[in-house]
Amino acid sequence: MATYKLPCIHCGHLLDEAAKLCSNCASSSPFGYACPACKNPVVLTDAICSDCGRGLYIGCPYCQGRTFAQPHCQLCGRPLTVGCTNKRCSAPQFFENKRCTACGKKIKAKLAANPKER
Ligand SMILES: [Zn+2]
Ligand SMILES: [Zn+2]
Ligand SMILES: [Zn+2]
Ligand SMILES: [Zn+2]
Repeated sequence: MATYKLPCIHCGHLLDEAAKLCSNCASSSPFGYACPACKNPVVLTDAICSDCGRGLYIGCPYCQGRTFAQPHCQLCGRPLTVGCTNKRCSAPQFFENKRCTACGKKIKAKLAANPKER
């Protein structure tokens, strides 16, 4: 049986159509956008998540541009996720998340000051 490959919308890496995770950029929604707080599927034209009401456009902490809340800034490409600070989890989380979407615990992670220069 043939499996189809589809590009990850975040990084362009070709993935199995059934993939739940991008093996290249670690996005948990490789073929569509998802709300960073509740993982509800969202589209780029949504201003807020229809499920939890979270605003989906944020100011990038690096370039100060307005970007959709997704794993990388649409303008400068810098990562907007941090690993969950709970050691047994470490799932990538959107930097504004107060709670991990994978383990449900509080997180204290901070974005690196300038990831490009490290
Ligand atoms: Zn990817
Ligand atoms: Zn949501
Ligand atoms: Zn940016
Ligand atoms: Zn976690």
